[in-house]
Amino acid sequence: MTESTPARPEGMSAVRTTTAKQVRPATEGWTQAKDAEGRPLLQFASPKRGKPPVHLADLDHDARVEKLKELGMPGFRAAQLEKHYFQHYTSDPVHMTDLPAASREELVGGLLPNLMTEVRRLETDGGDTIKFLWRLHDGALVESVLMRYTGRITLCVSSQAGCGMNCPFCATGQAGLTRNMSAAEIVDQVVRANRLIADGGLGDPRKVGHKDERVTNIVFMGMGEPLANYARVMQAVRTMVDKKHGLGMSARGITVSTVGLVPAIRKLSAEEIPVTFALSLHAPDDHLRDELIPVNSRWKVDEALDAAREYFDKTGRRVSIEYALIKDMNDHAWRADLLAEKLNARGRGWVHVNPIPLNPTPGSIWTSSDVDVQNEFVRRLNDAGIPTTLRDTRGKEIDGACGQLVATEEDQAAAASV
Ligand code: SF4
Repeated sequence: MTESTPARPEGMSAVRTTTAKQVRPATEGWTQAKDAEGRPLLQFASPKRGKPPVHLADLDHDARVEKLKELGMPGFRAAQLEKHYFQHYTSDPVHMTDLPAASREELVGGLLPNLMTEVRRLETDGGDTIKFLWRLHDGALVESVLMRYTGRITLCVSSQAGCGMNCPFCATGQAGLTRNMSAAEIVDQVVRANRLIADGGLGDPRKVGHKDERVTNIVFMGMGEPLANYARVMQAVRTMVDKKHGLGMSARGITVSTVGLVPAIRKLSAEEIPVTFALSLHAPDDHLRDELIPVNSRWKVDEALDAAREYFDKTGRRVSIEYALIKDMNDHAWRADLLAEKLNARGRGWVHVNPIPLNPTPGSIWTSSDVDVQNEFVRRLNDAGIPTTLRDTRGKEIDGACGQLVATEEDQAAAASV
């Protein structure tokens, strides 16, 4: 496919220049790498930090058995620990009465070490949306957001502490990359959310459905670029979908998103795990996307769209295109038309678009589009035959929507006191 650079309306620069400052919260133990002109650099490699303790969810079943044997304990205990963790959502030895009292602590210490401490919990939407702030073993802070909808419960998980992709409109990107999260740290966000749901902690208990409720959908749209932490994210996904030794979730309910790391998209297509794939595009032209998504300087719009189409061809799963609508930046009618043109050029029925009004972050120069502009953007795509749905912005009041997950200085202070 060839890139056609659309004409920009005169007088409009790709990115507005302003003296307003972006928020740059402190991130423990981390300094942003910069080029000679002082511009932040993309970070693909995670800075070296102490590794989190090995946990059952970092390993497959056989490796769990081996690990127990190495520790001088019977391998068959692995299945019992799996049951406690993945079905009863507990790592507390007190509740594991089927294990011998004398070795309970040792078994739990060996395979179920504590990975995260809850620092803060914020609720909104009448208790139907909850944002958690977690402190990891080395002080890194991450967040997850739990949302109850009619008929489903979605958890937005983090895959990295911070993010190295540097997208200028994104609060997480402003804080840089602290480190990759381990597979178990990713899975533990789900298990901890399931524990809270099982305790009746999500939403009005009078409205809560059956007692076996748990997280049904996962979106990798919290902190981090999931495909920049590929191996651990995939280990976490395998554990989430493992029916016998994991959480037994449906792969279709798991959405893995990326800003367009093309080689990793191709790898994901070959995994044979039919997760939902989402490409965070945010602009259909390289001129603007180079500015909005710095990694576009490496893999262009057409390359990312080609890889997304290949994902559909290999898996049969319809691809989602995420598009944060930013006022006067990427919300023009002609950009909606150009997006439709590029998607239709790759065939019909393989994609749908989710525009989402940008959630302004405190101190940010970026704001969401006006409602009539949003509606026009959606209408043009739908008219061109691209199924398009404006996504809601749950969690807005608690900075829990996409592009808003970032640990602030206040969070750091709260974490230090826990
Ligand atoms: S938008 Fe996504 S990829 Fe870009 S900086 Fe934010 S978290 Fe990272």
